Amino acid sequence: MSGGIVRIGPDNIIAEMRNWHLEANSDYNDGYIKQHFQDHLETVYKAIDDMRKTKEEKELEAEKAQWVCEECGKSTFETDIEYLVSPTMHLGCQLEIMNELK
Ligand SMILES: [Zn+2]
Repeated sequence: MSGGIVRIGPDNIIAEMRNWHLEANSDYNDGYIKQHFQDHLETVYKAIDDMRKTKEEKELEAEKAQWVCEECGKSTFETDIEYLVSPTMHLGCQLEIMNELK
């Protein structure tokens, strides 16, 4: 066999995913089993999404991860600069902290 480390082909992967899909949607399975197989599918979908991301998309994601409010834990990335004390603090959150200290 050429290709060395390749153990299974796309047909095998697709066949297995079709089985998971059937199990996830079968009325013969209870909710726990359905969820179990749905989780398998979501894990693969997530990995595929990640592999398909461009270098630029990954860089933007890394940048966005830096823009998180220390107080509320929400993203500050889309917040208008006038409503930020810093990239890691909403103005509203800072004001709440100051009110609590009074
Ligand atoms: Zn905040």
